[in-house]
Amino acid sequence: METRGGDARLTAGANHAIRGWWRFAVATGSENREPGPRFQCHGRAVDALDPALPMRDAKACYRAVASRDARFDGRIFVGVTSTGIYCRPVCPARTPRFENCRFFASAAGAQEAGFRPCLRCRPETAPELAAWRGTSSTVSRGLALIADGALDGEGSVDALAARLGVGERQLRRLFDQHLGVSPVAVAQTRRVLFAKHLIHETRLPMTEIAWAAGFGSVRRFNETFRELFHRPPSALRRKAVVALPEGSVAAAGVTVRLRYRPPYDWPAMLAYLRGRAIDGVERVDGAGYVRSVAHGGAIGTVEIVHLAARDSLGVTIRFPCVRALPAIIARVRRVFDLGADVAAIGAHLAQDRLLAPLVARRPGLRVPGGWDGFELAVRAVLGQQITVEAGRRLAGQLVAACGTAVPGGPQGGIARVFPSAAAVAAADLSVLGMPGSRRATLVALAQAALAEPRLFEPLGTVEATVARLCAIRGVGDWTAHYIALRAAREPDAFPASDVGLLRGAADRRGVRPSPRELAARAERWRPWRAYAAQHLWMGDAEAAPAVASPRMRRTAHVASEPTVDARISAGQAS
Ligand SMILES: [Zn+2]
Repeated sequence: METRGGDARLTAGANHAIRGWWRFAVATGSENREPGPRFQCHGRAVDALDPALPMRDAKACYRAVASRDARFDGRIFVGVTSTGIYCRPVCPARTPRFENCRFFASAAGAQEAGFRPCLRCRPETAPELAAWRGTSSTVSRGLALIADGALDGEGSVDALAARLGVGERQLRRLFDQHLGVSPVAVAQTRRVLFAKHLIHETRLPMTEIAWAAGFGSVRRFNETFRELFHRPPSALRRKAVVALPEGSVAAAGVTVRLRYRPPYDWPAMLAYLRGRAIDGVERVDGAGYVRSVAHGGAIGTVEIVHLAARDSLGVTIRFPCVRALPAIIARVRRVFDLGADVAAIGAHLAQDRLLAPLVARRPGLRVPGGWDGFELAVRAVLGQQITVEAGRRLAGQLVAACGTAVPGGPQGGIARVFPSAAAVAAADLSVLGMPGSRRATLVALAQAALAEPRLFEPLGTVEATVARLCAIRGVGDWTAHYIALRAAREPDAFPASDVGLLRGAADRRGVRPSPRELAARAERWRPWRAYAAQHLWMGDAEAAPAVASPRMRRTAHVASEPTVDARISAGQAS
């Protein structure tokens, strides 16, 4: 079999990628990751945090596979030339001989080289570490857009490149350099693996799986599976599973498991969502999180629970159109920050004395994302200069005023969807108890979102995203950074003027840095400043009850958002 194994990909491009990562890999390469000297491990053979490992050191990869080392799950895929199958390092099957192994950094790489996914270890269930490819933000963003379906149906690499602000050839080159595969191969692999996931885990009929996974036609779906597995897709389903009738998904719901790389600080995530849950749109209870979902003109719900023993979230989607599944799942991944490799990020941040104790206390802390860019931006504006709780109530008023009702009436307290930009632009906002200038900002925001539907997508650098948002009347630097952090999911966004951050970064005597000093210190936290911010907010919130005034205490239980005076200090126009 002709493969593109590790050796073949040690091109100039790959070497460049390795160099780019080298400083980081070396800095975090200690296996025990305890504080201590970190710059001694040049040439270390097995480094679980080195994403270039599959391209660099086949022997080290083999040791990881032979020991079924779970730390490499999602980072290494092994193709076995004697069987044509590729596996996760944790596969229970007998370890293949070294000379039959080829190693890849992604499932797409293995699949493009002609290997088909193993039916035992199921590579589609490996944690997806998209954010990890952070050396190239263009590649990370490209992966996110592909996960959203950017290359399904009519989508082209040309159009994808344009959205990312690069040329088509440059995008292909970046993908090859960082992942060793083309964007099209990533999309194809994603379709196959997602379809396989649905075959194994749901009772969806095959035709609907074909649509849901983004295959243009059922015929194409069947052909692809026959080519890859030498049998029709239905043969991969357990005999006992009886498919549901077509069109029944809306009522029955589809449940899938999404794996993350542990640790995962579920209590912190749930506390964040609980503090902000908008009445009628979202609900947080002991079991998990439920919210209404609007997509492509249809309305449904999504419910998320934590499956701690399986390092996964269980996601149940009730939605009238199966084609929306990938987009909804991509949103769940973003909101719950499933792609983050917190061990790697934490190891980097813990090199700073200020952050080390915070990282040690909450090693699984994630950066919660916004469900929708416009919704998040509206929340940010509504929350200017008031408490998180007051902002939450205002959002509830806005939803009651102009959010579309869920068809069939309220279910479990979920009655409406968050209003669209068009609905907000057309609504009478005088019912909202807030200053007229801020109502004007809401309207300006809605109009800007209508004029540029991709306003909240990360395009170009963080600075470019922030500048674009600051052009909207009433949106200042703090709000723009906050939107970039939560909505555009910029891992490097950092609202340095935020009082919560300044308090969190105070020294032992309680002396706070100036925003300029904090920004300077944060330089060494790149490219993960958003995670540093989350840790500082969390530390600040946890420290608050002991030192804060009663007014502060009211907001302090809701972790990770700037409190009252934070917004004032951030210089927001009111
Ligand atoms: Zn396997």
